[in-house]
Amino acid sequence: MGMVITVASGKGGTGKTTAVATLASCLAALGFKTLCIDFDAGLKNLDIPLCMTDFTVMDYMDILSGRLDLMEACSESPQIPNLFFLAAPVAGDPEIPDPAKLRSMFDEIRDEFDYCLVDAPSGIGQGFIQAHEGADMSVIVTTGELPSMRDAQRAVSAVRDMGIKDVRLLVNRVLPKNYKRIRTTIDDVIDAVGARLLGLIPEDKYIFRALHANIPLILYKKRLAAYDFLDAARRITGEDLPLRQKK
Ligand code: ADP
Ligand code: MG
Repeated sequence: MGMVITVASGKGGTGKTTAVATLASCLAALGFKTLCIDFDAGLKNLDIPLCMTDFTVMDYMDILSGRLDLMEACSESPQIPNLFFLAAPVAGDPEIPDPAKLRSMFDEIRDEFDYCLVDAPSGIGQGFIQAHEGADMSVIVTTGELPSMRDAQRAVSAVRDMGIKDVRLLVNRVLPKNYKRIRTTIDDVIDAVGARLLGLIPEDKYIFRALHANIPLILYKKRLAAYDFLDAARRITGEDLPLRQKK
């Protein structure tokens, strides 16, 4: 029985799409059959870090409308075995997914895959709620900056209000010199909202370089943050790993 993990945030641009692509790549590399779904209809861009821009013809509305079966609509990565992708519908699609149909799509996904990562749109509105319709776990991505952490706190509360119990925080773009300071703030946030820490991901210039070289981060020649994403992926699978020490 697979697990559906929705990756969301209060603030935009915190690194949700990067996290979905890299966590999913890591889970696939660990041998798990993994699907990632772009749920950011309109602003879809998960195909870019996955290097799967040629695979955006089919989308999840094809499944919800009954036009295609699940595995007809999902595409396997030509570069990373076990990694599958399902795109968001094109911008301006007027259809709003029916929650019951979304839940049954996620049930089918759980039967087919070990893990499914959902790339939610920013904010805590309708898109956030839809993206959590099938979630067993919610990962809230924040940067180490206070405004982003405050939004993350609100996002965690919103997820809890939806009845999702397993909520984790992923703190992204951390500068090594700020690790100690952020740990203190993060401990306060964790205390306030009761969400566990999934990982701290460093600021990494190779994310930009890999993106522009059109190479998935885990296959790029240098990939500082990928090791921390790998640790976070292993924590998702239940391993108890300490945080990497930063100098
Ligand atoms: P979101 O999906 O939350 O809007 P993205 O994943 O698209 O955010 O990330 C926003 C930008 O930040 C992208 O250009 C991405 O390459 C960059 N980025 C994300 N995480 C990191 C990081 N750890 N280090 C450096 N750049 C990052
Ligand atoms: Mg995004």
